[in-house]
Parts: sequence; C-alpha cells; structure tokens
Amino acid sequence: MIGAGLSGLTATWQLRSAGVDVALAEARERFGGRVLTLDEGSADCDMGPSWFWPGQPLIARLLDHFKIRYHDQYVDGAVLFQQHDGRIERIRQASPMVGSLRIQGGVNRLCSVIIAEIDESCILPGHELIRLESNGDTVMAELVGPCETIRVEANRVVLAIPPRLVAGLVFEPELPAETLQILAAIPTWMAGHAKFFAIYDQPFWRQQGLCGSVISQRGPLAEIHDASPNSDSHYSLLGFSGLDPPSRAAMGQTDFEDQALKQLDDLFGDHASRPTGVHFQDWSQEKFTASQLDLEPLTFHPGYGLNLQPGKPWNGQLKIISSETSFGNGGLIEGALEAALDFARAITGLDMPLVDNPND
Ligand SMILES: Cc1cc2nc3c(=O)[nH]c(=O)nc-3n(C[C@H](O)[C@H](O)[C@H](O)COP(=O)(O)OP(=O)(O)OC[C@H]3O[C@@H](n4cnc5c(N)ncnc54)[C@H](O)[C@@H]3O)c2cc1C
Repeated sequence: MIGAGLSGLTATWQLRSAGVDVALAEARERFGGRVLTLDEGSADCDMGPSWFWPGQPLIARLLDHFKIRYHDQYVDGAVLFQQHDGRIERIRQASPMVGSLRIQGGVNRLCSVIIAEIDESCILPGHELIRLESNGDTVMAELVGPCETIRVEANRVVLAIPPRLVAGLVFEPELPAETLQILAAIPTWMAGHAKFFAIYDQPFWRQQGLCGSVISQRGPLAEIHDASPNSDSHYSLLGFSGLDPPSRAAMGQTDFEDQALKQLDDLFGDHASRPTGVHFQDWSQEKFTASQLDLEPLTFHPGYGLNLQPGKPWNGQLKIISSETSFGNGGLIEGALEAALDFARAITGLDMPLVDNPND
C-alpha cells in the first residue's frame, strides 16, 4: 500500500484485520495526507478537511465505533457579504455550512485511532514511491527514503494517492498513454487551495449576532467560517484564500497573513486583528498533494470516480484507491473511506468495515 492518507490507512487497517499481509509506505514523515489538524487538543485547527455531512454513513459508522464525538457546525446568526469596494452588508441568507458536522478534536483524531490499529512495524514513513516495475508475476516498488533507496517486491501494489500524482510515477513497462491521460485529467480535490486560521479567546462575531460566515469579493479570503472547537476557551475563524496559487506565492505567507487579519478586522472589528495564534496552509505548495495541473484551483466540485483497466501486465497488479476514485463521494473524506472499503471488500470477500456495529 502506498500513501497513508485516510484511504491508505483505512485499507491497510481493514486488510490486516482480515489477515491479509500488507505493508504501508508514506512519502511524508507524518500520516493523514490532506487531513492535518494543528493545535490538536486546544484550538483543533483543521487545515485540510473540516466537515462531513449527514447521509455519509461510513464516517458516521467509524466515528461511532471509535467513540469519537462530533457536533454541528456553528451557524447561528447573520452571514456577511463583502463587496469589491469593501462595503459590507448583512445578508438574509443562512450560512452555506448549515447541516454540516465537525469532528470534536479535529479530523486527525480519526487518522490517529486508525493508525493505532495498525502494527507499527508494517508502516514506513518518509519513503516516496518513484518507480514501479512489473515482471508479470510480481511488482517491484522503488522507494526513496531519507538515507537510501529501497526496493520492495509484492504480488500487487495499491496506490492510495491522488490519480494525478500516479500519472507522474515511472512505470516499467509503461502504462498506456491513454491511461496516463485519464489519470492526469482527474483534479485532486482542494489541492490548489490554501486555508488560514485565526484563533481567539472570545467569539466576538457571535456576540455581534454573526455566525462567522462571510462571502467576500474583496479578499484575500473569499470564504470565511466559524471554526471553533467545541470548547469555551478557544474560538476560531477559518478562511479559504481567494487568490490563485501564483498570486499567493508572489505575495508570500507573511503578507497574506497580514492582509487576512486586516480583512477580518474590517469585517468583525479590531478584536479580530489580535488573534492568540494564526496558521496558514497552502496545499498547492505540497508536492505529495498537488501537481502542476492543480495550480488552477477548482471552482466547482467535479464528477469523480475511476475504474481503471490499466492493461497487461498491470491488470490485477495495480489498484488506485484515493478519494478521487470514489463514484459516490469523490474528493471527500467519505470517498476516501468508500474507496478503501470497496477495495478491502473485493480482496477479502468480507463485509466491510470489520468493526462492531454500535447498535448490536
Ligand atoms: C483544504 C482542504 C479542505 C478540504 N475540506 C474537506 C471537507 O471539509 N470535507 C471533506 O469531506 N473533504 C475535504 N477535503 C478533501 C479530503 O481531505 C480528501 O478527500 C481526503 O483526505 C483524501 O484522502 P486520501 O487518502 O484519498 O488522499 P490523501 O489524503 O491525499 O493521501 C495521499 C497520501 O499519499 C502520500 N503520497 C503521495 N505521493 C506519494 C508517493 N509518491 N509515495 C508515497 N506516498 C505518497 C501523501 O503524502 C498522502 O499521505 C479537503 C481537502 C483540503 C486539502
């Protein structure tokens, strides 16, 4: 298994639970991939995914299994609209996040409990897959580590990494050009985006009758929401950058953060320019998430799903299971779980996930 995001972690855990011999290699030194919670245990800043939604059964099932609590997104109060020229108005519209749910403690909690289920000795962080070679019977994976390059032989390889990154790997024999084109054409959800967090000791926007949600034509934050953990000591606002990756890179992180705080000050008053902490995460700069093609951020959620038939000898030896391969919830946390569990079910023939039903 290559890639220790939610899809690779879930598939490894479930396959090993069913007795399948599988090892997991990850390029980064940390696990979780696009899931990244900073200040865990206090402000719980989810720099990657923040929300899931009712009607997504897999995540709800796993959270119940691990007894991880979740809560409603805070949506009480008015939404602000900030125009190009800086004018701000309260609009008669519910927050776009109505109905969405947040994991108490941050999304990383789900990754952490899954990692705890996997035998440490079969996880290899800090090793980047660069090349795959098939001799017809087995596959050799070439992994570049901090000190040396290692080669691992296996009956099959599962790539729990975004399809666009798969297209950049070296395959011997080569994958058909048409297959590579299909993979490269699948955008990695949110890979071109950046997220900003400002942490406070008071929810001053709530005290003004605002829910924290803002739609802005002015920026640098295009969309802002309340991101407070379920606590009475920390509160926070998160914002998605409205600038594209090249403009963000030209501006630099310090200027971006200064301008974001100035915008929050304009929107919510001077308390907003005095956070107790800030975080900024630009996913377009992360080579294990974004490719060059992702520097054009998406403005809509594309139709996802991939059922690749890569041709001989790769058929049966190669499987891609990142979230983007899910037909039902592609690009989302639920899609990562769906892809992982569908694969584990196909390999083992068992009903997945292999966890107790909390209602039994
Ligand atoms: C800013 C942002 C906001 C989001 N908001 C939401 C949200 O609110 N709700 C929601 O449902 N979803 C959201 N998403 C999407 C969600 O995060 C993803 O769908 C999900 O985390 C994908 O999991 P994955 O395991 O399929 O892929 P990834 O998390 O991308 O995992 C892939 C793993 O493979 C590793 N890897 C890559 N290349 C190699 C290589 N060559 N060798 C070895 N390892 C490699 C990576 O380091 C990574 O750990 C958001 C994403 C971002 C970035």
